[in-house]
Amino acid sequence: MKEKNPFEICQAQLDQCAAILKLEPAVHQMLRVPMREIHVTIPVRMDDGSTQIFRGFRVQYNNALGPTKGGIRFHPDETIDTLRALAAWMTWKTSLLGLPLGGGKGGVICNPKAMSQGELERLSRGYIDQLAQFLGPDVDIPAPDVYTNPQIMAWMMDQYSKIVGKNQFGVITGKPVGLGGSPGREDATARGGLYVLREAAKECGLDLSSATVAIQGYGNAGYHAASLACRLFGCKIVAISDSQGGIYNGDGLVPEKVLEHKKKNGSVINCPGTVPVSNEELLELKVDILIPCALENVITEKNAPAIRAKIVAEFANGPTVPEADDILYDKGVHVIPDVLCNSGGVTVSYFEMVQNLYMYYWPEKEVYEKLDQRITAAYYNVLNASKKYRINMRQAAYTVAVKRVADAMKMRGWV
Ligand code: GLU
Repeated sequence: MKEKNPFEICQAQLDQCAAILKLEPAVHQMLRVPMREIHVTIPVRMDDGSTQIFRGFRVQYNNALGPTKGGIRFHPDETIDTLRALAAWMTWKTSLLGLPLGGGKGGVICNPKAMSQGELERLSRGYIDQLAQFLGPDVDIPAPDVYTNPQIMAWMMDQYSKIVGKNQFGVITGKPVGLGGSPGREDATARGGLYVLREAAKECGLDLSSATVAIQGYGNAGYHAASLACRLFGCKIVAISDSQGGIYNGDGLVPEKVLEHKKKNGSVINCPGTVPVSNEELLELKVDILIPCALENVITEKNAPAIRAKIVAEFANGPTVPEADDILYDKGVHVIPDVLCNSGGVTVSYFEMVQNLYMYYWPEKEVYEKLDQRITAAYYNVLNASKKYRINMRQAAYTVAVKRVADAMKMRGWV
């Protein structure tokens, strides 16, 4: 089957929302496409002395509410259409959380797993060399995403600062805590998702202390989701997977041990005391909560009828296609959509920008409290809209978020 194009999915989601909100044609058209996108070519000197040419992108989707904001992905299968979709989702995400920011996303087609630290550093600096004139703390602020991390953010911030001739910590977020990063940013995506999950469990009458959980993807979001779900709520994590396959133990997995195994062996597979499970099987397990933490398009019309979880919490961006949304809604599965569920990352990124600007850093506890307040309020905004208009949680999130962007464009006199 041809893989669904994430940008077409993203436009279809917007079209549904435009019909619900009765958006004027000009507003709708403006929101259907990115405001600006930049394609760059990055030559990188490799360790063997050869020069490899990489393709990089930055999509600045919409800045009506403020400077564009969103991560940078390093992935071999990166496409411009995926980045357009991800940049649009960032626009709805920042708006939904009431952040004074627009949405953007960037990426480089590369395989970071096959590159040395030196090669990765030169690629990261090369990306900034090509894009510096389009970035800035009040223009566009990148952050980590799939296969990028705080060290990469540190190199990028340093390169940008060298180009502009002064320290500009606020040009990028997700930096190491020793270099202008915010306390609490590392696990913010997962923590925010779990605060929302706590409220969703109340709504569904689910006791988290006895709930079973399956997690697809074991990167930053997946690992912290597993670890925090155990530590904060006492959930039982029965299945975990990564790009190579999955593991299952009905008595519960220990997230830290699984991470240790992955670090040593490159994957969670064959972790002692577990039985193998494929990524496809994991999605259909009989669990209370399913947490996709990997890539797009994993819950489709094919497997949605077989999903048995009561709650699907989208820690990944774009895991569910629209046809599957309808099936899950009809089955009564409570889906916490990505633009809400994983917005903890960008929310703490915003806190990081504020702290950089003031050069005054908050204790971790304050970051957690501020995150909890914002994301919990956003959950209830979405839930109330979903009940009021009898629409699914994603459509509800879109109505809240898109309306704010549309209103901002009108106030600015764009449309
Ligand atoms: N990459 C994350 C996301 O998809 C965080 C973006 C940010 O912090 O700007 O939400």
